[in-house]
Amino acid sequence: MLSGYAGRILDVDLGSKQFTVKPLPERLAREYLGGRGFVSRTLFDEIEPGADPLGPKNVLIMASGPLTGVFLPCSSKVEFGAKSPATGGYGDSNMGGHIGSELKYAGYDMIIIRGQSQSPCYLYIDDDRVEIKDASDLWGKGAIETETALKARLGDEFQIATIGVAGENLVKIACISHDFGRQAGRTGIGAVMGSKKLKAIAVHGTKGVPLADPAKVLEVGKNKFRALFAKPGFKEWTPYGTAGITDWVNEVGSFPTRNFSTGYLEGYEAINGKAVREKILVLDKGCFCCAIPCGKYSHTRVNGREAYVEGPEYETVALIGGNCMLSKVEEVAYANYVMDELGIDTISGGGVVAFAIECFERGIISESDLGRAVRFGDVDSVVHIANLVAKREGIGDVLAEGVRTASAKLGRGSEKFAMHVKGLEISGYEPRNTPAMLLAYMTCDVGAHHNRAWAITYDIAVGREKLEGKAAKVIELQHVRPVLDMVGACRFPWIEVGFELEHYPEIINAVTGFSHTWETLSAIGERVWNLNRCFNIREIPDFGRKYDYPPARIYEEDIPSGPTKGKHITLEQIEALLDEYYDLRGWTRDGKPKAEKLAALGLEEEARACGMV
Ligand code: SF4
Repeated sequence: MLSGYAGRILDVDLGSKQFTVKPLPERLAREYLGGRGFVSRTLFDEIEPGADPLGPKNVLIMASGPLTGVFLPCSSKVEFGAKSPATGGYGDSNMGGHIGSELKYAGYDMIIIRGQSQSPCYLYIDDDRVEIKDASDLWGKGAIETETALKARLGDEFQIATIGVAGENLVKIACISHDFGRQAGRTGIGAVMGSKKLKAIAVHGTKGVPLADPAKVLEVGKNKFRALFAKPGFKEWTPYGTAGITDWVNEVGSFPTRNFSTGYLEGYEAINGKAVREKILVLDKGCFCCAIPCGKYSHTRVNGREAYVEGPEYETVALIGGNCMLSKVEEVAYANYVMDELGIDTISGGGVVAFAIECFERGIISESDLGRAVRFGDVDSVVHIANLVAKREGIGDVLAEGVRTASAKLGRGSEKFAMHVKGLEISGYEPRNTPAMLLAYMTCDVGAHHNRAWAITYDIAVGREKLEGKAAKVIELQHVRPVLDMVGACRFPWIEVGFELEHYPEIINAVTGFSHTWETLSAIGERVWNLNRCFNIREIPDFGRKYDYPPARIYEEDIPSGPTKGKHITLEQIEALLDEYYDLRGWTRDGKPKAEKLAALGLEEEARACGMV
């Protein structure tokens, strides 16, 4: 039996209501590790080329990694994946909480969900007992409301992932929710779940995880917890979590503000991590085996309306706070709660709402389209637009497609300020004066997401005007960071607290018995990166360089205010960044992996499948 793995895959067909349990192939574990690697390999193999992302031939995957559920710092993560309805290409999104570990304890590394149910259902897993149960009474309920209802029905020991009405309505910025406020937010993964009429996944397990050397894992686990607690960043970062970086991002002029028209928000102190802690915090909340609980469970009250919400964390502060210009932490938290309950990703949600408000200001959409006047800085405008989108009411039906499609339909120059790459709305860093961060957005496999290569710190460290060396750094990060998503580990101990990357090969080897170094782990990262590029080439008919550009606002407008006032990046500089990136990757100047590069990564068949040979 493979150590670190449950050793089984649960394969469910919602159309026929049948399921099978298959052994986990050893080759899959060795070549793709788990989590995001399993998603990448399985999507390429199991999805029929050209499948409709919202049709029965798309598959929804939930995959843990070898560290998920093991006594190690922050070993909580699970990956959801599918062909993305937002981009039409490779899609995945990572989630913490407790459902990844529970899946391992139930005896499965991965669930593959195929087909479409005729009626609302939920997937019930209690160790070896698997059932597809009726969810008619839950359809139409909020994501958190559904989790509460299923906990009451099944018991607190079940870990539950749900969708809200946005997922039911196939909104392309819909997320999957778990643990009362943790989300697999990006790439429209909640709409795929909704297309299958799958309202929830409920998991309970009582099994263990086989370990290569249990005594060593215990020793390594204890030592790594001690190493993490000893880091100066532990005491500084933990009280505020991710929202603690709000001040720094403003100070470097990269805080997305007013639909990314600028990089600095006056009065950001009212919505930063300190404001969360001092004004609305109820308790710190962590995922499975977390040593540095970044979740800030909060209570907010706005104009007589009250809500409990996990957050707001940094990305929500940036996209709902800065980008929609809300000036009070209570308002950011309330809009966060509304989007969580509707089942909307707060990153794309903040992007779509800000885009709609700018369209309204410019006269591209009207008061009658929206049902009321809207403005930046008004929480009721944010809540109103979020509801239109989730329910696909009025102009919400257009906005529910995401800013790329919405701008193509609305026209009148709105493409320039539809802030996305590949159809995925940009996350929380204004990138005009941070070329490495911009390149990371441009080349990210799922669209403009920050978590593959959070390169902004490198820009600041080595000089933000400089272009040399930025492509190489982005590539290095694009190989290293996703490895943590593959093994099921949270990135924050490394990124935020200073826990050295060098710890990970020791941890992974103690659990699995493999003999990895960072060199071998990065090689897997490179294989997965190229495989996902092949997936995009296969699935998006004209995919290539033209999909790697940011919207024109990025290179046509100088930053108008704040510490980076007057800064800009030119289209020529963007072309140079892309050229260098493709050359270093062994891709053509049209952004396609060359056959020899794919062969070196063991991807010869994939090269043929996507027409590269
Ligand atoms: Fe979860 Fe945050 Fe802990 Fe990471 S740091 S495991 S996201 S609570």
